[in-house]
Amino acid sequence: MTNQNFSDEHVVTHLGDEYERFHGAVVPPIYQNSLFVFKDFDDLTKAMKDEQGSYLYWRGTNPTVEIVEKKIAALEKGEKCKLFSSGMAAISSAILTFLKAGDHVLSISNIYGPTTKFYGYLEKFGITHTNTPSMDMDIIESLIQPNTKIIYLESPTTMTFKILDLKAVSSLAKRRGIKTIIDNTWATPLFQNPITFGIDIVVHSASKYMGGHSDLVGGALITSKEIMDHLFYHEYQLLGGAMPPHEAWLLMRGLRTLPLRMKAHQESGMKVASFLESHPAVKKVHYPGLPSSPDYELGKRQLKGYSGLMSFELANNSFESVRGFINSLRQFQIGVSWGGFESLVISPNYGYNTKQIIKSGMDPGLVRISVGLESVDELLEDLDTALKLKPQSV
Ligand code: PLP
Repeated sequence: MTNQNFSDEHVVTHLGDEYERFHGAVVPPIYQNSLFVFKDFDDLTKAMKDEQGSYLYWRGTNPTVEIVEKKIAALEKGEKCKLFSSGMAAISSAILTFLKAGDHVLSISNIYGPTTKFYGYLEKFGITHTNTPSMDMDIIESLIQPNTKIIYLESPTTMTFKILDLKAVSSLAKRRGIKTIIDNTWATPLFQNPITFGIDIVVHSASKYMGGHSDLVGGALITSKEIMDHLFYHEYQLLGGAMPPHEAWLLMRGLRTLPLRMKAHQESGMKVASFLESHPAVKKVHYPGLPSSPDYELGKRQLKGYSGLMSFELANNSFESVRGFINSLRQFQIGVSWGGFESLVISPNYGYNTKQIIKSGMDPGLVRISVGLESVDELLEDLDTALKLKPQSV
């Protein structure tokens, strides 16, 4: 049996834990040491030669971090995983792996804001970037330039939760000699495995569902052994965004319950999305799990489940309406990020940027909710009460 045949439940519970190695401790310890010492100089020289496969210095490898890397690689059906100090550290390292001055990146539809900002930052190194709002393969292909080195995507997309055909994108990219990177945070490795559709690098913010308790910030990057053999010694070690062992231990603890938590997020998410869809104060719901979603059939082919993050457009889409609705909620707390135990609400419309929101193709009445692990009946009651209130002027 290879690692890739284990059930997700087995992977999060046992894979990599190796009780013998840790004196029978059922929970592996936190190796809170920056360096490792050797019995003689010969052993050190061996470790220097193969830093990826040795314990030398924590910026490269650490036994606690390594256990979690093994679990996430197996869950994602990838050969190798490295953990980073944040999702953005994983994303920026993945992007830099394939780029040099003069190269171009094509990104598709709505992606996480700071990732777009990073592409802007790379302009000072002579790297250019195009973003297309289109999910149409012919349009995507027409935007490929001779110097395009990466196609970057999220599926479902940030804020709008549209689905992109992963097989079609990866085969287009392979045909044109381009690498593909996907941010798979929404689906988690339990609900989507982009490597099985031919994507080259998968990145995650572990700060969301994988950690699951809103008590850590971290990132993960999963790819082939060949790509990791380069990345480990360059974008991982040289940029230095390694995950500390204490965070890895918290992440391991979060992963233990990931299958149970995702099942609950999915069940409640589906109920909330259906409720919103039928509510007269809601114009539109963006959630790929709804059979009415234009992406439902494609999503069913790629996704094994649906998480609890979605957005919807208020029928009254003024800023006052958005503000009044959010301020009226009692169970959903107001805050950035998502994927934890607690339900959260936010809108990209802050009042002073409404024109920008419309220009970027989003509805000014757009509200995003992360459905947490509270009683779903209480969440529905909370939404219903807030949706029935009349907006008050600012
Ligand atoms: N990717 C997505 C889709 C996100 O929503 C976020 C954070 O909100 C990130 C990446 C960045 O992750 P981190 O905050 O761990 O750097």
